[in-house]
Amino acid sequence: MKTQWHVQLLLIINLCFGGLCIAYSAQDSENPSAVRKDTPPLSKTITRKAGAVFEAQRAFEILKKQCEFGPRPPGSPAHRETRNYLFTELKKYANSVALQPHQYTANGVTLQLNNIIAEFGTPIGETLLLAAHWDTRPIADHDPEPENRDKPILGANDGASGVAVLLEIARILKHKPPPRRIIIVLFDGEDYGRSIDDMFIGSRFFAQNLGKWKPDYGILLDMIGDKDLSIPIERYSWNANPEFAKLIWSRAAALGLAPFQQRVGAAIMDDHVPLIKVGIPMVNIIDFTYPYWHTLEDTVDKCSPKSLEVVATLVISIIYDGL
Ligand SMILES: [Zn+2]
Repeated sequence: MKTQWHVQLLLIINLCFGGLCIAYSAQDSENPSAVRKDTPPLSKTITRKAGAVFEAQRAFEILKKQCEFGPRPPGSPAHRETRNYLFTELKKYANSVALQPHQYTANGVTLQLNNIIAEFGTPIGETLLLAAHWDTRPIADHDPEPENRDKPILGANDGASGVAVLLEIARILKHKPPPRRIIIVLFDGEDYGRSIDDMFIGSRFFAQNLGKWKPDYGILLDMIGDKDLSIPIERYSWNANPEFAKLIWSRAAALGLAPFQQRVGAAIMDDHVPLIKVGIPMVNIIDFTYPYWHTLEDTVDKCSPKSLEVVATLVISIIYDGL
């Protein structure tokens, strides 16, 4: 009965999309848990078809590995160690990997930053960008304890989760090359400043220096490891390219990925905005209802392999089947 009910709900959602209706259903937004509690078992169909299975536990180990370096704000030894680790890992899987170095001065401090860019697949046809940020915030400015607010966060969810999914996907891309060009870019300096003037540094630099990596469209992953995963359509993504966002969330519904909510949520400034500004359709897949955001409690125990798998299932479907 649960399955039938779920199928009916998906039909309603799909019909809704088909009719260009974005009211989705007041019912869903009033009672989103009604959708989320009935999550069906994740289908492995897509990953099997791809010839390589996304290993959620393996992705979770990558999340933990980043956290073992400690907080990873620009300028710290852990930041350098993490950069070397990520570069070395991507080298195992990609056609090519490059650092995109840039400097940025904030409050008299000059930062040495690096985006890490890996290329996969064939140069023919469209290019899909997959992105996450690999730095972590130097200040826990939302921590409930005032004495913690100048300390750096660990960033298990805010940073490490998106990178973990993309590194595990990189392994799959090596196992079975995709039918399009995939660029994975790990942005630096996303979470640096106290104000947004000194944030999204790496993505702004990338957007102004696309060069040979210029994508046709892209997906940003940020804060997707939360155990209690809830991902509405991010509003900047929706406002800029509603048809593109609709296609992606429709795919999530078709895959039975209930944490993807079929409604438009908050507008969240993030690394996708600089790319949208230069004309690249981007969606931000983000769970912004994470109670440990920018606190010292953003730790591994708040995250789950299952959440990484939910998001990876959608991304892998788009990589291999297109939109
Ligand atoms: Zn953050």
